[in-house]
Amino acid sequence: MALQLPHGRRLAVNIGVDFDAHSAWMGTVGATSPGFLSRGEFDAVVGVPRVLRALSEYGVVGNFFTPTHTMATFPDSFELVLESGHEVSAHGCWHEPIPKLAPDEEQRLLDLQIAQHEKYVGKRPRGYRSPAWDFTDHTLGFLEAAGFEWDSSLMGRDFEPYRPRPIVLDFEAGNQFGPASSVLEFPVSWHLDDFPATEFIPGMNAGMESPETIYQRWKDHLDFAYERVPNGVVSITVHPQAIGRAQYILMFERFLRYASGLDGIWFTNLSALLPHWTD
Ligand SMILES: [Zn+2]
Repeated sequence: MALQLPHGRRLAVNIGVDFDAHSAWMGTVGATSPGFLSRGEFDAVVGVPRVLRALSEYGVVGNFFTPTHTMATFPDSFELVLESGHEVSAHGCWHEPIPKLAPDEEQRLLDLQIAQHEKYVGKRPRGYRSPAWDFTDHTLGFLEAAGFEWDSSLMGRDFEPYRPRPIVLDFEAGNQFGPASSVLEFPVSWHLDDFPATEFIPGMNAGMESPETIYQRWKDHLDFAYERVPNGVVSITVHPQAIGRAQYILMFERFLRYASGLDGIWFTNLSALLPHWTD
């Protein structure tokens, strides 16, 4: 099981833009007041154009993981995303808290978001990213049944895609893994996510790390993978409301400039990697 990148490509880099707007505040943080929602408005109105400009400047093709709530609430900003040519991938209906959902509600919201995605994007999503990166015991099976080809929510590797397996818990005899999924996992990491590092949430998250700290963390991951994990994928996750702030967008542009300068770096969306995977 391995990825084999095309000739001349040493390492893939995926820029995954989680375009959450209002939905992450509503669904994950549980905050619906005007102050929090204004941060989501900044995401759509200010952050998205800045991120699109940065990606365009360095010829980067990536993924916009977009809850359907965002598509409905900010149609003008979402139109910019559609016009940009980046792959639009599923990211929940309203950034719903997956681990808290009963199975029938999880299934209902998955069906709803697929129908809404088809309406707003014009085609079915090939890939999924769970809001806030967690599953229930049912999620993997639901994704398989819905025909998703890949997921990007789990952390069982760092730079290598893999087939996730359901886990049967046994606290005394040891856990058991089930069969490998038909869904290919492109792993993520909180270390490579701008949100916890940047966003201040009173009582929940300090955020506001120095852009230098984040830059060095991302560069170290990139350099490690470039040297030691050829044919790997580095998945960087950014949120326009976070990375779009002045000091962070400058850092993001510097990171894209550095990565672009390495020979054999392939900025790509995740679906384009599927033909290069063999089980
Ligand atoms: Zn999100």
